[in-house]
Amino acid sequence: MKQTDIWVWVEGKGHKTATLTLEMLAAASLLAGQVGGRVTAVTTAGSVPSDAAMLGRYGADGVLALCHPALARFSEEDHACALAAAVVEREPSVVLVGASTAGKSIAPRLAAGPGLPLLTACTALEWKGRTLRAVRSLYGGNVLATEEFSALPGVALVLPRSYSPLEPVEKGPVPVEEVLLEAGSLPGRVQVVSEAREGAGETALEDADIIVSGGRGLGGPEHYRLVRELAQTLGAACGASRAIVDAGWVPYKHQVGQTGKKVKPKIYFACGISGAVQHLAGMRDADIIVAINQDPEAPIFQVATYGIVGDVHRVLPALTAAFRRR
Ligand code: FAD
Repeated sequence: MKQTDIWVWVEGKGHKTATLTLEMLAAASLLAGQVGGRVTAVTTAGSVPSDAAMLGRYGADGVLALCHPALARFSEEDHACALAAAVVEREPSVVLVGASTAGKSIAPRLAAGPGLPLLTACTALEWKGRTLRAVRSLYGGNVLATEEFSALPGVALVLPRSYSPLEPVEKGPVPVEEVLLEAGSLPGRVQVVSEAREGAGETALEDADIIVSGGRGLGGPEHYRLVRELAQTLGAACGASRAIVDAGWVPYKHQVGQTGKKVKPKIYFACGISGAVQHLAGMRDADIIVAINQDPEAPIFQVATYGIVGDVHRVLPALTAAFRRR
């Protein structure tokens, strides 16, 4: 019988494998461990990523590198097409894709091409006999649905922070199989003309241990500096509610919530944020939540570990000053 092969789509950030990919490798390792299967990390890039062979330290048994010059720049259609062709040819049991912005655009395209079943918003996966079962977080995390793939191979789009990366083990490089895709094998309908990386040097929200987020209670875009100052003092990343992203106070990359980023820091400061379910969907798994709001009835206090009833314009500078003194 064919060995169960769990694939993980490898997302790179710059030249570094994204933390989310390491989370997917952890999920894949657990699944492989259940049935004595193997984990293959699949890269879709112009060439073999420099850290590919080291993915074994995080759970990969091998790497499949799908290479084509056109893949050096990210076009979801081409990347999904390369991946889909490999899935059809090699028939892994499942492909795990982390639900980053790129992952969310890759997974449906990957599934739609060859007509594979797709389960989105997965937070846990396990084998039930020969069936793969997923827990899906729906309606902003208010409903947890357990569903099964109707057929395999399938595609699972897994929410960030559903799994923790494995502690890296001392292990030599794992085998890397390089597949050079033929010219003309990709649709190439979209030409990426240039790429600009936002916020180089900033701590990414998904990777941050501490996040300071601001909401409409700040009163205006000029007051978001209060969030930045506290974040800078604590070495934290800056987050935001959708209200202030939609209002154009800060870019979308800061948005936390159902339609933003799902985060799981050690400490999350919610400053002038009411605590709508869609915001909670992105941050309620933080270890410690500190809420600052002038309305004692604000829903954010229901999930807060520590609550400060007060005006952000007074509380934030006081906190920043206090942490600076330490
Ligand atoms: P408000 O709800 O207006 O709250 C402002 C808070 O600030 C209030 O609690 C108020 O008491 C407090 N306040 C006011 N002045 C002060 C002061 N001086 N000091 C202290 N506190 C003060 N939202 C997200 O955040 N993320 C998402 O991903 C997201 N996705 C969505 C998806 C859908 C489909 C929908 C329908 C909505 C989504 N929303 C999302 C929007 C969400 O429903 C809320 O509208 C939004 O989170 C509210 O943002 P807010 O808390 O900043 O603003």
